[in-house]
Amino acid sequence: MAITTNDLPIRSATGSRAVERLVRGMATSDGAGVRLTRVLTHDLQRRLDPFLMLDAFRSDDPEDYIAGFPDHPHRGFETVTYMIEGRMRHRDSAGHEGLLGPGGVQWMTAGSGLIHSELPEQEAGRMEGFQLWLNLPAADKMVAPSYRDIGAAAIPELQAEGGVRVRVIAGESHGVRGAVTRPATEPLYLDVHLPAGARFVQPLPAGHNAFTYTYRGSVTVAGTEAPDRHMAILANDGRGSVILEAGREAEARVLIVAGRPLGEPIVQYGPFVMNTAEEIRRTLQDYQRGAFEAAAVRAL
Ligand code: FE
Repeated sequence: MAITTNDLPIRSATGSRAVERLVRGMATSDGAGVRLTRVLTHDLQRRLDPFLMLDAFRSDDPEDYIAGFPDHPHRGFETVTYMIEGRMRHRDSAGHEGLLGPGGVQWMTAGSGLIHSELPEQEAGRMEGFQLWLNLPAADKMVAPSYRDIGAAAIPELQAEGGVRVRVIAGESHGVRGAVTRPATEPLYLDVHLPAGARFVQPLPAGHNAFTYTYRGSVTVAGTEAPDRHMAILANDGRGSVILEAGREAEARVLIVAGRPLGEPIVQYGPFVMNTAEEIRRTLQDYQRGAFEAAAVRAL
């Protein structure tokens, strides 16, 4: 689906939230040895509430990704996997499986818990994408687990002025509603492709925490350059939008992520994110007695 708008409101640069901090991310490995960059790290969970983690992976070397993420549990939040290149197969404890390809998204609500695997479906070539963790409010942490596979063609797109293309994974951009809506945190998740020199304005709700992540080229956010592989945390300065401008020489691609903070306690133990230490203790007990294997996961 594509909608063309040639008359987007362009606000002055003073209308853009400023960059509070640029973050390079931390090289790490996870799963059975997948090399990745943890962009949103544990120490930023409170600042970027309701987001708990953002991992970026991009490699042409199969050694960096081939081991994948064999069976592992989750409870208490949602995982959003967005593939740019490459293929990843997922399987869960209820016997479902799906193949995630370029441009596709898997939105998984771990809720009360499941076990799944995420394994590359290729032995060569580039693997590139992101996994974002979105917290669930306390009231929803124990909902039945479910997931949606959203193919590339099912992600709504906005064609904006200057050749800018926006893939709307969640939330809304200039009247184009995304593939996913979440009332508790109203997440916005956009993949913005800007030709060299192009400019794009995205309105942001005042109370939302927000950041960008550049994964091609370089962009300027309210006068601050956010180069390739950098997250820019946007100040909660009361301004109503973020304005991106691509560099003159090359195209830029940037994720814009924003959400309404939950303001609840966050207690994480590896793949489990609850509100109290007692809930984590119960989670470990449930896991040890096999409750996660028995979970009835719904494919939506
Ligand atoms: Fe996982």
